Amino acid sequence: MQISKRSLYDYAIIGAGISGACVAYFLKKSGKNVVVIEKDDIASGGSGAAGAFLSPKICSKSRYTSFINDSFSYAIKFYRENFPEFLDEKGILRILRSEDEIKKCRDLEDFMPKDFRYLNSSEIDILNQNSCKFGGYFFSNGAVIDASGVISQMIKDIDLLKPLHVEHLEMVDGVYNIGDIEAKGVIICAGASEDFEQISYCGLKNIFGHRVDIETSTIVPFHLHKECSISASRDGIVHVGATHIPNYKYDKSKDYTKEIDEMLEKAKSYIDFKEFSVKNIYFGARNSTQDFFPVTGEVIDAKETLKKYPYIKKGTLVPREKYLFHKNLYICAGLGARGFVLAPKLASYLTQRICKETHIDKTIDTQRVFIRYVR
Ligand SMILES: Cc1cc2nc3c(=O)[nH]c(=O)nc-3n(C[C@H](O)[C@H](O)[C@H](O)COP(=O)(O)OP(=O)(O)OC[C@H]3O[C@@H](n4cnc5c(N)ncnc54)[C@H](O)[C@@H]3O)c2cc1C
Repeated sequence: MQISKRSLYDYAIIGAGISGACVAYFLKKSGKNVVVIEKDDIASGGSGAAGAFLSPKICSKSRYTSFINDSFSYAIKFYRENFPEFLDEKGILRILRSEDEIKKCRDLEDFMPKDFRYLNSSEIDILNQNSCKFGGYFFSNGAVIDASGVISQMIKDIDLLKPLHVEHLEMVDGVYNIGDIEAKGVIICAGASEDFEQISYCGLKNIFGHRVDIETSTIVPFHLHKECSISASRDGIVHVGATHIPNYKYDKSKDYTKEIDEMLEKAKSYIDFKEFSVKNIYFGARNSTQDFFPVTGEVIDAKETLKKYPYIKKGTLVPREKYLFHKNLYICAGLGARGFVLAPKLASYLTQRICKETHIDKTIDTQRVFIRYVR
């Protein structure tokens, strides 16, 4: 929905990726008057590049693994209930790479999200037997979501201001003036953007990558993941993802054909595709914090807080209530390589924080990244 007149909103959400769309959707459901502002187009950042696989994490028991898997279950339920037409729930096969991995996974079974079964290689006939000789875990609720479809649908009844590149955020007389609109609050959901100095303490870094869409008549019946991910086929198209461009730097002058070809060779070593032609290549950034947990909540005024409590740098604990914050400025970012898994849960936490003043867990709030930054 485009905007025709000057308006005052409760919240302006910067970024029309999956985090901005989820935050806008949840806030609107809670009765807030919101606008989404996008410098380019819907899903033009990392969200448009993603394979958008929704799969659980199989890893030793840790807060991070629990957080990912709780978010995974939440996301599947959320998309299934609200946007089923964009969810391709064909299940996802996590192919194992060694006897050791089988043993490790067996020990973790109690800890995995439900609805899985182990398949041995003879039960996986779509794959070259050599690539799946150790079998794999099939998660029947693993899925792929249509990224731009679901984002467009989420914000379909929400005002959208695009293209507008927000370069400066300042509250004057209780409102943020952005282009032709005013907002009482702003939520930065700008992914890899380095535009906002207010959030520089979050230490966000980018890991770039490609997804390639392949045209093939081979029917891939479910989604699968080993060293690369391959989606189930839909209308003759299969997604293959993703490359990882190291050192967090994207060099525009560099040719990434080698990285893309290596990924496609891996995909071909798993499945004997009948035809295999590259239809499209997408490129974007995964945006992460230093400890890989996402970050959401009120944006701390890092400069003023440090001025008032300089001893935080030496490790003295200052209670969060005493911190200074940018008024009505929030962030939802650092979704890493699992943006479509994390965004619904983060948006729900942030909305409850804004509307009901609930507490945001320490593992994902802005204080932890601030403390890491000052020390
Ligand atoms: C190759 C690749 C494969 C991936 N595969 C998966 C996967 O299989 N499963 C999964 O869950 N996740 C995957 N991810 C991760 C996922 O894509 C990201 O975590 C997610 O897209 C982040 O969403 P976001 O909304 O935070 O950021 P983005 O999608 O980057 O959105 C941010 C938006 O903000 C806009 N913006 C930025 N600055 C400004 C400004 N100053 N003014 C106005 N607008 C601005 C940008 O144009 C952009 O549209 C993958 C990522 C990549 C790159």
